[in-house]
Formats: sequence, C-alpha cells, structure tokens
Amino acid sequence: MSTHFIADLHLQASKPELTAIFNRYLAGPARDAHTLYILGDLFEYWIGDDGSLPEHRDNVDALAALAESGVHVFFMRGNRDFAVGPEFARTAGLRIIDDPLLIDLYGMPTLLTHGDVLCTDDIEHQRFRAKYSDPAWRRRMLKLPKFLRRQIARSARAKSQYNTRNLSEEIMDVNELAVRNFMQEYGASRLIHGHTHRPQIHDVALKYGNGERYVLPDWHERQGGVLICDEHGCRQEKLI
Ligand code: MN
Repeated sequence: MSTHFIADLHLQASKPELTAIFNRYLAGPARDAHTLYILGDLFEYWIGDDGSLPEHRDNVDALAALAESGVHVFFMRGNRDFAVGPEFARTAGLRIIDDPLLIDLYGMPTLLTHGDVLCTDDIEHQRFRAKYSDPAWRRRMLKLPKFLRRQIARSARAKSQYNTRNLSEEIMDVNELAVRNFMQEYGASRLIHGHTHRPQIHDVALKYGNGERYVLPDWHERQGGVLICDEHGCRQEKLI
C-alpha cells in the first residue's frame, strides 16, 4: 500500500480537460493508495462551501467515490482554496488537516505544507497569508455576500497572475533558510510541498543530517502528476 500526494490542480469549470485527468486518476491509480493527501490549491478559487460546492459537484462526487472505496483522503488548504469548509469535507468524505502537518511516513518524519509559508521573500503574499490562515478572518470573509466574495476571488487571481509575470524567480520561490529552519523546528527529514509549480527533489543540509524536499508538480490541461511514497521511497508519476 502506498501514500499519494497531489497539489496545485487549480480545478475550474472553464478547464474540463483538467477535471477529466482528475477523474481518471481518482477512479484509477488513486485506488491503489492507502491514503491520499491533497496539499492545497485543489481548486482555482473557492468562495465558500455555499457558493463553490454546487460548481464543483462532479469533483466532489469523484472524491467521495474514492473515499467510499476505502482510501483515506486528507485535504490541506492552499492560498486559492483557503475558504474550504466543513460542508465540503463532509460531502467529499475527507478530513481537513492543518498546515503544516508532521506525519510518520514509513518511518521517516515527514513534514507536509502547501508551501507558500516558505516563500518568505514575497512580503505581500505573507501579509495575505497571515489573513487567510486566521480562522477569525475567514469567518468574517464568509459572511460577505457571494457576489462580493466572487469579486474578491477574481481580483486576487488577477493580482497573483500579475505577480507571477512581474516578480523575480527568486522572490516567488521558497527561501532556502526558511526551509531549513522549518524542517529543523519540526525535526523533519523530509518535506513535501506544492505551491511553487517547480516539481523537483532538493537536498537539504540539516543540522541532524541530510534531508530532502519534494516539490509537487502543478496540473494543467494536458498533464497532472502525483508523488507516490511507500516503504522503498518516493517517486513522481505523470498523469494524462
Ligand atoms: Mn498556492
């Protein structure tokens, strides 16, 4: 039995090809997993369960079918779908987990995070992160009328697209020192995250030895990707 990790699918109604890859994955390879961890930005945006659940009925049903088949599914919020709530979790048959979360992965202390917490050079994003990761702020936001939440989501996406084009590669990536401190704070030997859309395996020099950092691939209309771990180690697999 294996453990699967995915992130940054950015599912959206305007990209049915993406949903098709996701559905094929959930009905196929995901069934071999004991546990599936979704590490944030599963959805391009989420304005709250009341507004976004109806739009993502197909995705939620497919997740529920996977859970029904016996696979344990965990969901960590990302900066795009931070407003995912208990109704989504209940309908999709999964459990929402905190960011970060330290797990014992086949004997290796492994730290899971969406990843944006490590992009410490992007001051503006960290300011936004401080807000959206605060449950009180989220509660206030969810009280706004849906049309307003939709408007906020649209402008946040436009801003992030603008930043992606205009901020330097270094600012948008994780900060190496932040990675080391983060892993050491939790005593982790392995870190798994998404968010940066730069799939890679990095070595990390920790004070207690060599660590590794797995960056999950983002999904697009032609390709998805999954990190599969078992007692022998971890490997990336492409999904089409
Ligand atoms: Mn993200």
